[in-house]
Amino acid sequence: MQPVISSLPTDVVPRAAVRLFDGKDLKNWTTRDGRKPGWKVSRGIMTVVAKTGDIVSKKKFRDFVLHVELRSPKMPEATGQKKGNSGVYLQGRYEIQVLDSSGWKVPGLGDSGAIYNVHAPLVNACKPGGNWQTYDVVFRAARVDRAGKVLEKARVTVFQNGILIQNNAEVPGPTGGAMDDKVGQPGPLLLQDHGDPVSYRNVWIMELPEKGSDQYAPHN
Ligand code: MG
Repeated sequence: MQPVISSLPTDVVPRAAVRLFDGKDLKNWTTRDGRKPGWKVSRGIMTVVAKTGDIVSKKKFRDFVLHVELRSPKMPEATGQKKGNSGVYLQGRYEIQVLDSSGWKVPGLGDSGAIYNVHAPLVNACKPGGNWQTYDVVFRAARVDRAGKVLEKARVTVFQNGILIQNNAEVPGPTGGAMDDKVGQPGPLLLQDHGDPVSYRNVWIMELPEKGSDQYAPHN
C-alpha cells in the first residue's frame, strides 16, 4: 500500500508551529558563536553567503515536525560533494544532507536526503539544482536517563518532495560537524554554510509532546 503522504502539513503552516523563517529577516537566527548571521535575505528567501557560517535557530527543540523548503543552485560543472552542498541539522546534531544529487542511480551516505554518513535515502527523490524542494521531517529525540545514558536513540523520518526517503531511521549519535553530543538536551535547528549559495524559505517547526497519556480511557 502507498504511504499516506497527502495529510502531511506541507502546504499549510499549522497554528501550533513556530515560523523560524517567514521570508522577512533573520531575527530568529544566530550563528554558532552567537553573532548576527551574514546570510542574504531577499524576496522571501534566505541564501548562504559563503564563509559567513552556519545559522542556528535561537529556539531549541526536543521532538518535532519540521518543514523546510530548499534550493541548491544549478552547478553543472560541479561534481560530488561540491554540487550545491548544505545541510539541515536537527537539534544542531543530526545532519540531513542537502546536495544536488538528482539523477544519481544509487544515492549514497553523503547524498541529498542522507542522514549524513549514517543512512542513505531509500530512493532518489532529489530534484535538479535550481528547483525548490521540500523536506518534511518527523524527529524523535534520544531518550536519556538522569545520568545522561542513552536509553533510546534518536529517530528520523523524512519525506523529500512528498516521497518517503527515511523511514523512522535510528541515528546512533550526532553526525559530523554537530554542535554538541548532549543528545538528551533540546537543540536548535542549524542550516549549514558549506560554501555553496543554497537557498531556504518557509521554515517552520511544530513541537510534539514526548508522550501521550498513561491512562486507558480517561473519560474527560
Ligand atoms: Mg552538508
